[in-house]
Amino acid sequence: MPDPAPTRAPLRIDGATLRLVRLPLVTPFTIATGTMTEKVFPLLTLRADGLEGHAEGVMDPLPDYLEETVAGAMDLLDKVLLPQLLGESFAHPESLARRLAPWRGNYMARATVEMAFWDLWAKSLNLPLQTVLGGEGAAVDVGVSLGIGPVADTLDRIAAHLAQGYRRIKLKVRPGHDIALLQAARREFPDAHLTVDANCCYTLADAGLIARMDDFGLDYIEQPLGWDDIHDHAVLQSRIRTPICLDECIRTAEHARKALQTDAARVVNIKVGRSGGHAEARRIHDLCAAFQVPVWCGGMLESGIGRAHNIHLSTLPNFTKPGDTSSASRYFTRDIVEERLETSDGRMPVPKGPGIGVTLDLDYLASATLATRDFRA
Ligand SMILES: [Mg+2]
Repeated sequence: MPDPAPTRAPLRIDGATLRLVRLPLVTPFTIATGTMTEKVFPLLTLRADGLEGHAEGVMDPLPDYLEETVAGAMDLLDKVLLPQLLGESFAHPESLARRLAPWRGNYMARATVEMAFWDLWAKSLNLPLQTVLGGEGAAVDVGVSLGIGPVADTLDRIAAHLAQGYRRIKLKVRPGHDIALLQAARREFPDAHLTVDANCCYTLADAGLIARMDDFGLDYIEQPLGWDDIHDHAVLQSRIRTPICLDECIRTAEHARKALQTDAARVVNIKVGRSGGHAEARRIHDLCAAFQVPVWCGGMLESGIGRAHNIHLSTLPNFTKPGDTSSASRYFTRDIVEERLETSDGRMPVPKGPGIGVTLDLDYLASATLATRDFRA
């Protein structure tokens, strides 16, 4: 595929700042693979033409969601990706993404650079990110993801979030915390849009148990099986009625193609931060649309920078199911951006202005920063 036609003179990346940031979570977040009490992430700023673009990495400190880690990504960004790109010029973010394409894996580290450049590039055109991505609309539908906890507490939290207008409730499950939870939740909330997310904690040997979830009218079952196992999800889908939604399995459009062609995913959770960036996320989106498979935007407990990127991406037309981009205040007492990213009646407004439309709160960011490294071309 040739480079896209340039819409502006190439932007030369002439500087960068890579920070390691730590934000405490309001409440611990427990899923099948463990509990998070704080969010630690790389925050990248790219500079060109007097403008700045920002993005954050969505990898965890330990390889418990996918194989990437914060330490590994910081090292790759510091020693390889940023030195490779500083002083280079790109007329379009797709061109930058193509420069990174020969590297194997490391989609989260690559996405950090690629997304920062999209923000920078959109700002250089004085356009919102959603516009350059091909999205439209002033707000997006959102749901919430509720971590694992006592069933009674979970029922209270479902009620509270439905009352706030959230359009879908996703329940984290794991073996032993599944059928009884769903029985109770469906009894109390017969009409709610409910889904479950297993974060890979079952195997095909659990197909009988997973089939029992067909009784609860779930919108979908998210990633029940192995993080890199598209094949077994196709086998499972042939045995259950509830649509399977893939998350961890879909890092690239090639993964999406294989899942779609084998009926391993009837819904796809797109996380731009784990897919190499917006260019690849958009290809996954377009491919799913061609298969008439709906998508939604997943979250990784991002700060306001990553959250804003997710919201802009969610305005593309095939994001027809509510995403995970809920209010930042559900996770953080104070965010690192000036703008408050809060939902109203289950809708998240798209931040206005050029690029991602949010600005760093530099004072608070300084207090949350563990390490900083500046780069100059
Ligand atoms: Mg998930």
